[in-house]
Amino acid sequence: MLFKRFFKGGAVVPHEKNTENCETIQMGVPAKAIIPLLQHIGAPCEPCVAKGDYVKVGQVIGDSDKFVSAPIHSSVSGTVAEVAPMLYPGGVFVNSVVINTDGNQEICESVKPPNMSNSKEFLKAIRQSGLVGLGGAGFPAHVKLAVPPDKKIDTLVINAAECEPYITSDYREIIENSWNVISGINTVMELMGIENVLIGIEDNKPDAIKEMTQVAATSDKINVVKLKSRYPQGAEKMLIYATTGRKVPPGKLPLDVGVIVMNVNSVSFIAEYAKTGMPLIKKRVTIDGACVNKPCNVDVLIGTSLKEVFDFCGGFKEEPQKVLMGGPMMGIAQFSLDTSVVKHTNALLAFEKNEANLPSQSTCIRCARCVRACPMNLMPLNLNKSALKENIEDLKKYHVSDCIECGSCSYVCPAKIHLVQSIRLGKAIVGQAAGKGGK
Ligand code: SF4
Ligand code: SF4
Repeated sequence: MLFKRFFKGGAVVPHEKNTENCETIQMGVPAKAIIPLLQHIGAPCEPCVAKGDYVKVGQVIGDSDKFVSAPIHSSVSGTVAEVAPMLYPGGVFVNSVVINTDGNQEICESVKPPNMSNSKEFLKAIRQSGLVGLGGAGFPAHVKLAVPPDKKIDTLVINAAECEPYITSDYREIIENSWNVISGINTVMELMGIENVLIGIEDNKPDAIKEMTQVAATSDKINVVKLKSRYPQGAEKMLIYATTGRKVPPGKLPLDVGVIVMNVNSVSFIAEYAKTGMPLIKKRVTIDGACVNKPCNVDVLIGTSLKEVFDFCGGFKEEPQKVLMGGPMMGIAQFSLDTSVVKHTNALLAFEKNEANLPSQSTCIRCARCVRACPMNLMPLNLNKSALKENIEDLKKYHVSDCIECGSCSYVCPAKIHLVQSIRLGKAIVGQAAGKGGK
């Protein structure tokens, strides 16, 4: 069924999915794994291992007593070489466990199917699994699923929109593991007491719609919703509106309108975890961009360096001018290939000169295209101005914190003004001021 509800704004981006027909290939064990102790939104983990310790696959190597956090597990077996700050994909240094691998992939004794017979056990198991939002956000899944007693969730929305160009990780999960997706959905429904499931897929992925519709036919509570292809259709608030017609008010969460949103890879992981008890130690990553010799989808052990992943894909045809972790709209540029794949890595793109070219900015012509494109009803041109002037009051007045950093405004701007970059800066300035005692 094609829903006639479209969110306001957004942008039409090219459906460039070179790897959609590339079956996922497994990459081997790296010689060294660098596993950051922060791979989620929330508090970083403290190390549970030290230099010289022998660690096994699936062993907890970092954890935190803070609620908004998720444990980190070893993806390899081997000896801890050091626990030290290492370069993180976001450009900062993060305390990390460096493991010299032995190639044996010895599995930790603690890896066994979890008890999940009620919601309390389920939430505990999800925390133990280390699952975070696999769509790229990295929000701890057990926190998202911890519904306060005064809220009632009636709908689970599965995000399979995958609206950014290049990325095909979610698409491949549906094509390769659709029964796992349904099994994970059934587990969440049953243990969370949710009655209704809507799987949102953009209409430019007919094979995924067909596959999910066939497997979803086994339940009258699970329906596939064919969404209009428009970026950022996969953003939570847009997806909820397109699938359910409910609007999440500014400053509110999906659970305020009775909805939980989960990525299609996240529910599929839950099905696998229920069977094996193996925590989140690997990730399917789309490797693409004109510089890559063999664009493909690869199952990568977390902690593998970007360089090794690109080498596995045949290396570069030419020296890339830009490497992104994530898609071209929301991805983060990398300045070193020594950083490693983390839980929320869904794509690595290596661009040549033309793809990487950032056009020079000209003067704003006040055309308001950025305003029309903003799915959050913001005024990007005013936010840009306020951010450049570091005007905290104006940034707050124009609701900078509501920006989801989708980049639609920058994409449509004819003057090529780097709107999203300065708005990100504005959010950081406001956040910093709040940390110093401001509001
Ligand atoms: S789209 Fe660009 S040029 Fe047009 S109003 Fe916005 S910032 Fe100015
Ligand atoms: S202001 Fe933020 S939410 Fe609005 S289009 Fe720009 S990046 Fe997206």
